[in-house]
Amino acid sequence: MAWFRNLIHISGLKSSVKVNPRNMSFTTALSHFSTLPSPPSATAHNYYSGLGPTKPDERPRVVVLGSGWAACRFMKGLDTSLYDIVCVSPRNHMVFTPLLASTCVGTLEFRSVAEPIGRIQPAVSTAPGSYFFLANCTGLEADKHVVRCETVTDGVNTITPWKFDIAYDKLVIALGAEASTFGIHGVKENAIFLREVHHAVEIRRKLLLNLMLSDVPGISEDEKRRLLHCVVVGGGPTGVEFSGELSDFIMRDVRQRYAHVKDYIHVTLIEANEILSSFDDRLRRYATSQLTKSGVRLVRGVVKDVKSQKIVLNDGTEVPYGLLVWSTGVGPSPFVRSLEVPKSPGGRIGIDEWLRVPSMQDVFAIGDCSGFLESTGKPVLPALAQVAERQGKYLASLLNGIGKAGGGHANCAKDAEFGGPFVYKHLGSMATVGRYKALVDLRQSKEAKGLSLAGFVSWFIWRSAYLTRVISWRNRFYVAINWLTTLVFGRDISRI
Ligand SMILES: Cc1cc2nc3c(=O)[nH]c(=O)nc-3n(C[C@H](O)[C@H](O)[C@H](O)COP(=O)(O)OP(=O)(O)OC[C@H]3O[C@@H](n4cnc5c(N)ncnc54)[C@H](O)[C@@H]3O)c2cc1C
Repeated sequence: MAWFRNLIHISGLKSSVKVNPRNMSFTTALSHFSTLPSPPSATAHNYYSGLGPTKPDERPRVVVLGSGWAACRFMKGLDTSLYDIVCVSPRNHMVFTPLLASTCVGTLEFRSVAEPIGRIQPAVSTAPGSYFFLANCTGLEADKHVVRCETVTDGVNTITPWKFDIAYDKLVIALGAEASTFGIHGVKENAIFLREVHHAVEIRRKLLLNLMLSDVPGISEDEKRRLLHCVVVGGGPTGVEFSGELSDFIMRDVRQRYAHVKDYIHVTLIEANEILSSFDDRLRRYATSQLTKSGVRLVRGVVKDVKSQKIVLNDGTEVPYGLLVWSTGVGPSPFVRSLEVPKSPGGRIGIDEWLRVPSMQDVFAIGDCSGFLESTGKPVLPALAQVAERQGKYLASLLNGIGKAGGGHANCAKDAEFGGPFVYKHLGSMATVGRYKALVDLRQSKEAKGLSLAGFVSWFIWRSAYLTRVISWRNRFYVAINWLTTLVFGRDISRI
């Protein structure tokens, strides 16, 4: 509510506000806001008109939905002398997902993989007409150039969420995707996904709770085995990397610090087909042998039902678990499903070669939520950070060009020169498998010629590559210090 109260307060001061640049900016920004209803009627309807359309003499406004890889790379590259930026997302940071699995067992701290939006694009916290709004986008009225939003109050029941609208000149949809459950009963209720920092926090707390409970007198042998059975469903890179991290944690830290229960803790990885299907046979065989050596049990099976303490496979096998992590790929979110636009194969928002949503003027979609329309003749790109990041970079430069040519305002870019289309070149894939081993495949495809290797050198390449890719120098420093601390002192096993 502070945001709203500030506006009311400052609107009372009108243009006499000369306190600091940010306050000044609010005075300027007020012209964007349609008449704001008074708090009592606002409470009754829980709705505010929000940011109205920009005027021709004002800077055009780009509204960005999401704060993930695609959105952040886009915001970083956008020229803030040409546009105001308004970012709407339920989280105020970007997550460096390739290192998220390492935070679940304490190899890295949570802060090391999260970067606040204001550090990626300072304009959202300092520039007059640019903002970050902690909210979910709930609707889109493309003909009016307006998005509907609802604040995120994170379950704080003293604050009632409220709705507001934002008018845009250009809209960038970068909402990512959602973990797939394939409609399997009980997954949402009992399993933990691994997509956000709060998931990693939940996994770490549950793992440590189970470890500590299993040491307390009064627990039966069977219950101890169940509590300490960690099951990972999904043998893609995320499931494999998480299993590798877990087995490293068990081999090094649990054996030393929870010696009483070291023989009870186990990791099982369940996959319906081959693990790491995007890698070639040789690398897959290597990963399988490394995981097995680390004590990870690989099970080929299809999950039919998930109950609170066990999962049931298609063949009737029951697998008791204490911790269940679900990582079976992604699909479109409910918001993306609800959008009435032509979709790409797989149900993503359909885009053309310039990342535009052709059925809507001034709307673009990037990252995991978008896919090329069949009519483009291009395949839907994989749900990868490297795709999202490069689409964000491309779109920033495209909109900068349009802005420079005077096409920044709504409905002004119809005749603008868009330049070359977006072209994706795959840079390769990497995955760690634990015990200082990784797979690196720098080929365009499994059949192409090029470098592909596995082992310690790959692990070193993996670590170096991600250290250089981490979002900022601050996080790079955190990650390096965390890795060093873990190497020297072991992982942090405090349950906070
Ligand atoms: C654990 C893990 C490891 C990974 N490792 C790799 C890897 O090593 N290499 C690789 O290339 N890829 C990896 N990926 C995939 C990569 O993270 C995704 O492809 C990438 O995040 C996609 O970027 P995005 O911007 O499209 O979506 P995201 O990064 O998911 O961002 C989506 C954003 O939209 C916001 N949002 C959602 N709904 C709404 C709404 N209604 N309104 C407003 N905002 C909303 C979310 O809060 C989020 O900020 C990994 C993914 C995971 C989960």
